[in-house]
Amino acid sequence: MTLYVVATSIGNLGDISPRAIETLHAADCIICEDSRVSSKILDKFGIKKPLLICRDDNEVRILGKVLDFLREGKSVCLISDAGTPCISDPGFKLVRACRNQCIKVEAIPGPCAAVVALSISGLPTDGFLFVGFLPSKKSARVSFFRKYAEFEYTLIFYESCHRITKFLDDAQEVFGPERMAFVAKELTKLHETFWIGKLPVVREKMATASVKGEFVVIIAPSRFAM
Ligand code: SAM
Repeated sequence: MTLYVVATSIGNLGDISPRAIETLHAADCIICEDSRVSSKILDKFGIKKPLLICRDDNEVRILGKVLDFLREGKSVCLISDAGTPCISDPGFKLVRACRNQCIKVEAIPGPCAAVVALSISGLPTDGFLFVGFLPSKKSARVSFFRKYAEFEYTLIFYESCHRITKFLDDAQEVFGPERMAFVAKELTKLHETFWIGKLPVVREKMATASVKGEFVVIIAPSRFAM
């Protein structure tokens, strides 16, 4: 009777750990976000298990079924489309329900894009705030930036290719031209690319680059200068 929260990969399928593969092989059922995405990694390692879909919009609805399954003594793995489940991904309500019911929850750790990007950014790692995705509206984004403009720790954001340039324009406007930033695109994948420097420099370099893909943006605290 255990819910395993299993991190997979953020792009490079070689990053999944042997323990994660072993745990998925031993599971009675795997909960995933999108079966088409997860079958790529499951097929690669010959893992064939019943899949249950868990998205933000049905997580509460499937809770009862998953809890019944766990109470029958089954072992259930929770995975997500990328990286660590529950981190800007569904699963937190399921984990909370298991904890409330004294059902064992175990982590099978692995990559998380925020931590991977931070670890190679060269920006301060002594303290950081993981923000995840900001709201898509400019006004909400700018008001968040204003609130955290003098925050003493590093800020980490997730952003999509559709909004990355607007995000950087607004960040520059609020944090000013001296603020250091690191942008990572497609970490661990074929088109992995990084930009580092003061916000206007990063923005200018990115103006001529392809912005297709997935992004992590890291903004250094104001006290930090390279
Ligand atoms: N659970 C995931 C994790 O552990 O990082 C995050 C899932 S969230 C829905 C997806 C977002 O994470 C993307 O839009 C992007 O901002 C970031 N991300 C995921 N994989 C990435 C990668 N390989 N390179 C850059 N950013 C990535």
